[in-house]
Amino acid sequence: MPTTALPYPQVAVLGGGISGLVSAYRLLRQGVGVTLFEATEALGGLGGTFEYRGAVIEQFYHVMLNSDVPLLSLLEELGLAGTIRWQETGMGFQYEEAFYPFNTPLDLLRFGALTITERLRTAIGAAYITKFVKDGTALDGITAATWLTAIFGASVFEKLWRPLLTAKFGDLFDTVPAYWFWSRLTREKGGAKEVKGYVNGGYRAIANALADEIVRLGGQIRLTTPVQSLHETANSIRVNSKGKWESYSAVISTLPLPLLRKIADGQICGSVPQSELVYQGVVNVVVILKQCLQPYYWNAIVKQGFLFQGLVETTHVVPLEQTNGRHLVYLMNYCHKDSETYIRSDYDWGSQAQKAVRSLYPDFDQTMIEEMKVFRAPFVEPVWPVNYLADRPSAQIAGSKVFLATTAQAYPRVNAWNTMVQIASETVETVCAELAGRPASGAAAVDELTLA
Ligand SMILES: Cc1cc2nc3c(=O)[nH]c(=O)nc-3n(C[C@H](O)[C@H](O)[C@H](O)COP(=O)(O)OP(=O)(O)OC[C@H]3O[C@@H](n4cnc5c(N)ncnc54)[C@H](O)[C@@H]3O)c2cc1C
Repeated sequence: MPTTALPYPQVAVLGGGISGLVSAYRLLRQGVGVTLFEATEALGGLGGTFEYRGAVIEQFYHVMLNSDVPLLSLLEELGLAGTIRWQETGMGFQYEEAFYPFNTPLDLLRFGALTITERLRTAIGAAYITKFVKDGTALDGITAATWLTAIFGASVFEKLWRPLLTAKFGDLFDTVPAYWFWSRLTREKGGAKEVKGYVNGGYRAIANALADEIVRLGGQIRLTTPVQSLHETANSIRVNSKGKWESYSAVISTLPLPLLRKIADGQICGSVPQSELVYQGVVNVVVILKQCLQPYYWNAIVKQGFLFQGLVETTHVVPLEQTNGRHLVYLMNYCHKDSETYIRSDYDWGSQAQKAVRSLYPDFDQTMIEEMKVFRAPFVEPVWPVNYLADRPSAQIAGSKVFLATTAQAYPRVNAWNTMVQIASETVETVCAELAGRPASGAAAVDELTLA
């Protein structure tokens, strides 16, 4: 493999989800050449879509919050911010056989799954977390389970928080730091009214706008082109796809770390951080309905033997004009990709979803369903271990020309497009500084936590 110095900087971006698209766009804006490699036939990654009778529908439920500053600034740049429809939303809580609205302090005081004393303690605990804990850094070293038990008491933890943590992280729930939980709770509501937004044309419109800009600025996008291996030389990094090797000045990988490890040659592979990190996957059943099913966007479920951890009816936010009048309900199960649950057949998931909906809504009948689709994602989010801050991967793999903009860097921020826009932008600053041979001015920003 001959190696020659490149005449001008060229960066290979691995992955065409939001992290890859933003990385490519920002690099091109800084005058760096880009080739973006995407394994599948479409852009968007976990924010990918499918078409159903003329409507473009998300495979996994996606909305934005009005506090998503980096994402909203990007949408402003792309001319899409004016097309966002904001909608006040609410949440319900199915606790065993009873359904409770779960939106106001009064709802909490009426939450019959807890005793009166437990409800009062929960109200005080929630106010303490959202109003008084201003900096969660110190919570990195203790588990959410320990912290929540101390604040709410063992019985509230067992009834409320343990099932919700298990729903998200499975059996490994008790490794997750309190810092993650605090960050999530303060982002979601912070005690204020819940407002969620959706861009006209959905997440595909965002991916398309970025792709148009990448091409306009001279970048290349290669779909159905998985990168098969990476090899580092003294003055370049070589990328193999479709059996062809090409040299680049640097690589930004947006792949989940286990996938990067698979394609990285010897030395790089050994340096990919977090070899022990376990990722949670998800199975989503999208039920396309002729009518509205539930009063709220989100219905969290804690119910013995119930296969799904929640139901999300996105058409409380997504305008019905964009779905040709159909209502969209997502039933989700977060599980490990190797679990028996994850690999069940689509048929099984479909019939389980129908059964689940019927058990919650006795008026529901099968003729309300127009179509069902099942989507799986093997790597959604790492199961964060305690003391992760110190080990959280930085923007560059030490001593290598491989840079990272991947969900493993999100902690303690929530895994969301907003966070990934911020991470990708920071990584691009580090890459540009490295290419220019100067210390990364962005390095401080990469380590600084800006909680969205
Ligand atoms: C059920 C669910 C609900 C969610 N809800 C929301 C929400 O409401 N709001 C929100 O903002 N976020 C939400 N998210 C999170 C959001 O989807 C992620 O934060 C974001 O999409 C991660 O983007 P990414 O580009 O880092 O990774 P990905 O989207 O995973 O992109 C990685 C890309 O790399 C490609 N790839 C893999 N291997 C290779 C290879 N060898 N060569 C080339 N390409 C490769 C993949 O095909 C993929 O396109 C949700 C996620 C899920 C699963």
